[in-house]
Amino acid sequence: MASRLSHFSHDHELVKTQTFANDQFYCDLCNTQIKEGPRYRCHACNFDLHEDCAKLPEKISFFAHPWHNLHLGPAGKTGRVCDLCMEVGTGFFYRCFSCSFDVHPHCTTTKQMVSTGLHPEHSLFLSPAGAIWNSCTACKETGESIWLYRCGMCNVNLHMKCLHGPIKTKVSKANNSSSREGSSTVGRFVRQVAVDTTVQTIVNSLTDLL
Ligand SMILES: [Zn+2]
Ligand SMILES: [Zn+2]
Ligand SMILES: [Zn+2]
Ligand SMILES: [Zn+2]
Ligand SMILES: [Zn+2]
Ligand SMILES: [Zn+2]
Repeated sequence: MASRLSHFSHDHELVKTQTFANDQFYCDLCNTQIKEGPRYRCHACNFDLHEDCAKLPEKISFFAHPWHNLHLGPAGKTGRVCDLCMEVGTGFFYRCFSCSFDVHPHCTTTKQMVSTGLHPEHSLFLSPAGAIWNSCTACKETGESIWLYRCGMCNVNLHMKCLHGPIKTKVSKANNSSSREGSSTVGRFVRQVAVDTTVQTIVNSLTDLL
């Protein structure tokens, strides 16, 4: 890439600068540390970008918000909540201004369709949880404004983080009787812990309500 860059988000030209192992620079776009290697910097403003982050397009289309294009820009001091992973961020976000839909740049690489060992029979599609189905088949947690990978045919729903674990019981009932894991002590232990955790979670939420 060129040694100088004008970035749509910044008034000044950015200069390609070397980052060394002991440097402590954070990327203003993704808020993570810039390790060794080149970065783009505005010295006057102490504004730095990863080389890869500097390449992100200003405008994208994204399957989770197919109606409008999203535009990349700083979240501002108060930060924004990502409509995909529901976490708060203070770096840059892709935003639809008409709908106030915000998403982390790294969350735009989320796959629309996945396959998982927890439900090997069908592919799962990322879908916004609705009023009827909103709990994760793996961890049993409920929440309305979350995205889950879903097999509508079998009503299997999984958080992005639960796609390949936690190592609890398999979601599919088909394997249970023949499962080697099921008859081993470790398997029973893991299963018991999982059940205890669920019970504890329910007890906790009941206590909160009282
Ligand atoms: Zn970055
Ligand atoms: Zn500047
Ligand atoms: Zn996110
Ligand atoms: Zn929109
Ligand atoms: Zn889950
Ligand atoms: Zn299925």
